[in-house]
Amino acid sequence: MKARRTRSQERILTLLKTLNQAVSAQDIHSDLRQTGQNIGLATVYRSLESLKLEGVVQVRTLPSGESLYTSTHDDRHHLTCLRCGDSIPINECPVHELEEQLHRSYQFKIHYHMLEFFGLCTQCQLASTAGNLPSA
Ligand SMILES: [Zn+2]
Ligand SMILES: [Zn+2]
Repeated sequence: MKARRTRSQERILTLLKTLNQAVSAQDIHSDLRQTGQNIGLATVYRSLESLKLEGVVQVRTLPSGESLYTSTHDDRHHLTCLRCGDSIPINECPVHELEEQLHRSYQFKIHYHMLEFFGLCTQCQLASTAGNLPSA
């Protein structure tokens, strides 16, 4: 089934596929403006919402409350440091098989999954054992 998308949705999806990282709606908005595309921030949010329901875009919310968007094409997970907020991408995905099992048992069409690990990065571990906060 091919979804009918608006031009704004197509542009946003294309942009997300070319980016190698998760971006906020604001980033998407300013990126599109920079390439001379006249699009409002409200349209960006609306398009992201439709793309999310279609299952081609996923949202990741940072501990800071900021929402970052990526194409679901890109199944990537992160180790997020609670102290400095650094996110380290990991290349393995341990749940692909589980996803297929769930699809079979529940007849549920899974668009994407979230898996994230929280803790302290190496630098912050060193800083906490030294008894002071990281300078960054
Ligand atoms: Zn850290
Ligand atoms: Zn995964």
